[in-house]
Amino acid sequence: MQFISTRNPQHKVSINDAIQAGLAPDGGLYIPEKLPKISLADIAPNLSYPNFAEIILTPFFAQSPLANSLNTLCNQAFNFPVPLKVLNETTWVMELFHGPTLSFKDFGARFLAECINALSTQEKTTILVATSGDTGSAVAAAFYHKPQARVIVLFPKGEVSARQEQQITCWQDNVLAIAVKGHFDDCQHLVKSAFKAPNWQDLHLSTANSINLGRLLPQVVYYAYWSLHFQYQHGIPAGFIVPSGNLGNVTAAYWAQAMGFPIREIVMATNANRPVQDYLATGKYQPRASINTLANAMDVGNPSNFERLLHLFADFPAFKQEVTAIAANDNDIAQTIEQVYKQTGIILCPHTATAYFARQQLSDYPWILAATADPSKFEAVIEPLIHQTIPVPLTLTHLLQRPNHSVEIAADLDSLHRVAVEYFEKRSPISVGEG
Ligand SMILES: *Cc1c(COP(=O)(O)O)cnc(C)c1O
Repeated sequence: MQFISTRNPQHKVSINDAIQAGLAPDGGLYIPEKLPKISLADIAPNLSYPNFAEIILTPFFAQSPLANSLNTLCNQAFNFPVPLKVLNETTWVMELFHGPTLSFKDFGARFLAECINALSTQEKTTILVATSGDTGSAVAAAFYHKPQARVIVLFPKGEVSARQEQQITCWQDNVLAIAVKGHFDDCQHLVKSAFKAPNWQDLHLSTANSINLGRLLPQVVYYAYWSLHFQYQHGIPAGFIVPSGNLGNVTAAYWAQAMGFPIREIVMATNANRPVQDYLATGKYQPRASINTLANAMDVGNPSNFERLLHLFADFPAFKQEVTAIAANDNDIAQTIEQVYKQTGIILCPHTATAYFARQQLSDYPWILAATADPSKFEAVIEPLIHQTIPVPLTLTHLLQRPNHSVEIAADLDSLHRVAVEYFEKRSPISVGEG
């Protein structure tokens, strides 16, 4: 299978190149030339999750040197449970937060880490990633001690929760955590500038933000898996509601639907950042500055996967027909967390709460909510609402006990380069190219 840029269907690359490059040279995002149709009748009903994942991902890796190791990659990456739980008679919750850093980003980060480690040969790959919280910890954890990779995580100083910061800074060795004096947008800007700067070439940069196809493909799997099992168990197709920010997770849901999985409809839930709602209202896409909300992993004003979503539909009327976006403001999020806890005893994270808020505006059913993070990551928001201490899973307890280390810099590319070279020189020298 070949992959094309969203900006140029003539530009075709292999999956290995798409994963290693992250972004297409024209600034577009890689997408499959054509989404494969899966024959549902050929999927054995009792496959384990990793074996199911292998079947779903196989067509994307046809002709890739990774094709033969896909089973191993899936077993290494998806080594944690993905349960579906009942919330009420018409609503289920797909818990995507049982990986090592307790958010759905573990799926993409862990699979990408396996791929990059398997693909890198002589030169180590340096993953440079900007984070507003969950991406950084998932990527750091996934690449930690992978011999073929180094990681630099940039996070905005003072703008991530204490537990998120600990999960980013508790690794060391091949993971360098950098606190940038600035906002998330400054971190993102540094990543983009580094890719263009000649003196960064020696580090063999790649990115693990959700623009990387290697993060998106594994997210297709859980929609495929649970839509199919739901259909088997209940005889009707479920709709999915996806808490959305950069739109990677919801794009994966649309891809699963296009591949033939029984998904009745897809709704994206957002916080007060509403670039998609504005696009639906006007037909004009207008990037915005992000607004800080209680669901901070979704604070995105210019979603990087918007191009991929747009590419799925022929024109604006088709987009409008298929895409529904419902926004929850901070008040809605807080009330939803309180209400669901009172009614069911279930504690939702602020992101998942936007999905339940959206669910209440919808009459059709059944619905599956994508639960994107464990509530214990956001205890400072949730505990005052429910007047309870949230139990901390053992995985997080362990990470909270590790020593942490980070380097602080101004939002400036030269400082970043200097700090990165110094850090990795000490551990394993960077081979400096000629000139
Ligand atoms: C990243 C994240 C989201 C948003 O996902 P996108 O793929 O960027 O739309 C939602 N919830 C949580 C907890 C996240 O970490």
